[in-house]
Amino acid sequence: MPLSAPPSATSLLAVDLEAVVENWRTLKGRLERAECAAVVKANAYGLGAAAVAPALAAAGCSTFFVALLEEGMALRPRLPGATIIALSGFLPGTEKDLAGHEIVPVLNSLDDIARWQAFARKTETVQPAWIHLDTGMNRLGLSAVDTQTLATEPDRLGGLEVKGWISHLACADLRFHPSSSAQLGRFHQQLARLPKARRSFANSSGICRGRAFHLDLVRPGAALYGINPTPETGNPMRPVFRFAGRILQVRPVDTGMTVGYGAAHVVVRPGRIATIAVGYADGYPRSLGNRGLVHIGGMPARVVGRVSMDLITVDVTDLPDSVVRPGGWAELIGPHQTVDQVAASAGTIGYEILTGLARRCHRVWLPPAKGD
Ligand SMILES: *Cc1c(COP(=O)(O)O)cnc(C)c1O
Repeated sequence: MPLSAPPSATSLLAVDLEAVVENWRTLKGRLERAECAAVVKANAYGLGAAAVAPALAAAGCSTFFVALLEEGMALRPRLPGATIIALSGFLPGTEKDLAGHEIVPVLNSLDDIARWQAFARKTETVQPAWIHLDTGMNRLGLSAVDTQTLATEPDRLGGLEVKGWISHLACADLRFHPSSSAQLGRFHQQLARLPKARRSFANSSGICRGRAFHLDLVRPGAALYGINPTPETGNPMRPVFRFAGRILQVRPVDTGMTVGYGAAHVVVRPGRIATIAVGYADGYPRSLGNRGLVHIGGMPARVVGRVSMDLITVDVTDLPDSVVRPGGWAELIGPHQTVDQVAASAGTIGYEILTGLARRCHRVWLPPAKGD
């Protein structure tokens, strides 16, 4: 992946759209008859939903999940004819915009259902909805008691077209975790008492836990973007992006000198420090101070000292001068170090690293997104 960026760009996120599409096809290939949707919330996990979603649509994806109404509204003109579903954006007062932009809400409570029904009645329309049944996350969705109420009072769904029922796995990333099959069992029990509609259960990891979890529609996010959905084993997904920072300066240092805030690194031999224009404001975790690793010209260099807001310092003593040049690039995530590895060193998960990178970087898409 060539790194091409305007002269002013200090950090670069290069997204390989072909790889995203290939990951979507790989996941789809695991399904027997379920539809493969795509989760593009949080700006496609930071990679740029305006480029990612149309690329997936061109490959045949026709259902997209966002978290917020605004995310759906931004995508609507770029996804003509596609279904856009908002997972958690159904706030009072948003009904008109949802309907106007043809964004289908996920209803997460009996109150949500009543409010969407009231809107349908008021506008004399039939409104589409997905309904979320909680099966063990205890985060969003109808509780078991609410689901029972819904089952015994079907009038609550009058005026609504239930497109489907959704639930969400708590431990899909842990292989054979007993709660996954327990959740699936509860989902089936609840569905047996409710009107027939499509059923959606699996996120990226859920897809990898067997056909029983696929049901009618799967909702992968992370795996599309190259995060390993099966952390217990090798990553079946292709990496889809590189994150690089520009080398600003290379300076000699001598024994006894310290580097950066808090004098948190003490130099123990004469050497060289390269300063790279990426910091925690760019989503590079501060926890990687004195821990992180970058690659310059394919060679590893350790982060020394603290991560500042806009800068990190790396020890390039063992790298040849010819490789470490101001204006050149240091790879922070890419072929030499996956997002999951960086996350592990930082004590977090790939999801958090990826969504955090989006803040200030220059993004490029390969091949360039159509219409962008
Ligand atoms: C974010 C999200 C997904 C996608 O999960 P991944 O682990 O990224 O595949 C699916 N369903 C719901 C309800 C979500 O919130």
